[in-house]
Amino acid sequence: MFGDCADCAAGRCTPPAQRSRRLFTGLLGAAALAPAWAREGVDVGPKSKFAGLVSAEQLEAAGGQQYAQMMREAAQQRALAPMEHPQAQRLRYIAQRIVPFSYEWNDRARQWKWEVNLLGSPQLNAFCMPGGKIAFYYGILEKLQLEDDEVAAIMGHEVAHALREHARERMGKTAATNGVIELGSALLGLGNLGRGLAGLGGQLLTLRFSREDESEADLVGIELSARAGYDPSAAVRLWEKMMSANKGAPPQWLSTHPASGTRIRDIQANLSKVAGLYARAPRPERRFPVAPPLRSATTSRDG
Ligand SMILES: [Zn+2]
Repeated sequence: MFGDCADCAAGRCTPPAQRSRRLFTGLLGAAALAPAWAREGVDVGPKSKFAGLVSAEQLEAAGGQQYAQMMREAAQQRALAPMEHPQAQRLRYIAQRIVPFSYEWNDRARQWKWEVNLLGSPQLNAFCMPGGKIAFYYGILEKLQLEDDEVAAIMGHEVAHALREHARERMGKTAATNGVIELGSALLGLGNLGRGLAGLGGQLLTLRFSREDESEADLVGIELSARAGYDPSAAVRLWEKMMSANKGAPPQWLSTHPASGTRIRDIQANLSKVAGLYARAPRPERRFPVAPPLRSATTSRDG
């Protein structure tokens, strides 16, 4: 393990020979064909340079503001699950297992004020905003009858977008297209800070990621869930469920995470890279039942 090295996580590190030998010895038998310097897990290469055009601090602040506003509005509509809601507890338990493995992918994640909330909405949706603000919509848990491993697959995927700073990258690309000097200064907070924040926050929920970002989030996601002790092959079942749900009313989630025919094959092709991590990971001590129908979940509280 060299979880403390950000360069390794970014795939641009040449570890010292001593570390390589230790790692190689550790992997003998399990992955004897892998080169000595190989990091165990998936390989997604360095982060996009475009992310550097936008301030991480400011984007995380914008995410935090947008998230807080959403949760306030949900609470006003009695659509924010209380702390003791079994499905909210389930989400927080799974997040607690995944989050410690996020630091290796992004050092900033150590300082994030991670939050996990459940929204009483029938939509099939979930997200993790920059700064570790996670939300699941009840509909995705209920309609897809998600098992814990599948919930972990979605959470790992969403958290991976935040860790790999895909929102920051997309906004950086926009800044580059529109003129780095002008927009860049606004995004970096050198212009009107308040307006910049509001604009950024509003964009976060409708960002459509590229195929490359999606593939990256899939791979980082299966590694996160494998390390957390959840079956990484659940990502395949999740996508199969998502695809068949798409034949009726298209899931909201698919509009911001476009599916492609190669997606499931790519995940399957990478499962062997995380099989050892999953085999050695301690299993979750708690397992949770699938979400019951939304109606009974809300009426039981409303009385
Ligand atoms: Zn995605």
